[in-house]
Amino acid sequence: MIRLAIQSKGRLNEDSLQLLHDAGISVDDAKRKFLGKAADFPLEVLYLRDDDIPGVVADGASDIGIVGLNEVEETGAAVKVIRKLGFGNCRISLAVPKTADYTGPEWFNGKSIATSYPNILRRYLADNKIDATIREIKGSVEIAPAAGIADAIFDIVSSGGTLISNGLSEVEKVFWSEAVLIARPGLTAEKEALLKSILFRIDAVEESRGKKYILMNLPNDRIEDAIALLPAMRSPTIMPLAAEGWSSLHSVIDGGSLWQTVEALKGIGAEGILVLNLDKVID
Ligand code: ATP
Ligand code: MG
Repeated sequence: MIRLAIQSKGRLNEDSLQLLHDAGISVDDAKRKFLGKAADFPLEVLYLRDDDIPGVVADGASDIGIVGLNEVEETGAAVKVIRKLGFGNCRISLAVPKTADYTGPEWFNGKSIATSYPNILRRYLADNKIDATIREIKGSVEIAPAAGIADAIFDIVSSGGTLISNGLSEVEKVFWSEAVLIARPGLTAEKEALLKSILFRIDAVEESRGKKYILMNLPNDRIEDAIALLPAMRSPTIMPLAAEGWSSLHSVIDGGSLWQTVEALKGIGAEGILVLNLDKVID
């Protein structure tokens, strides 16, 4: 049995459960429950506030966890970051009222900065030799300047919409974060083996993300041109069709370049092009 801590509610909860689901691990989504058990994998799920996850994993009350890298950095907990998971992307930035005559990081000298990330901020200020006062507040950081609590803020930004609606402008991007899988050092051999099996599944899910399976019919004399257009995992699969002089070609491509590739393939005479979603890619 291995125990995984995830956020009980909030921004990372859904994506964490989705990742488990895609990895073929079904847990009952009882958000109010403190501890759940997977039906089809020897895994327990511990539902926690995100701030508590790194510490609980470091202490060994949970073996592994899914949490924002920002929380790992802020808590300084003794955990290993095993995988970046590609969701919960955000940054922590300094923002000042848009009316401020901001000149550069030295602007913060003698100013007060409200934040829920005092440790990451303290490190940034020290690295940049800035002497500012840190005011730690747990929530609603973005209203601090308007409320007269601080001159500026250091807070999580993704689209920047919250800053704009609070009359703030982002001036220094300091820390980039995304959800990560963490583990405590010194897992038993049994737990290591379970972690390895979870990673194998996560990697297959990640690998398939954004990829498409494409198949088409092609005159034989255009196969070389098609191969040049299709960077496949190895090389495309080519099978002869019953119709003389034609083949069927199968490959995996990046979804991002899908339309460009399809147009180019049509241009060299491909017909009957099918594009399918990929569920898992196992290397
Ligand atoms: P909890 O109640 O668990 O303490 P919280 O309110 O502290 O939750 P959330 O707002 O749910 O935290 O954010 C959880 C994590 O999601 C953050 O630590 C960060 O890694 C990421 N995150 C936060 N805000 C954003 C955002 N705007 N866009 C993308 N990811 C974000
Ligand atoms: Mg929190």
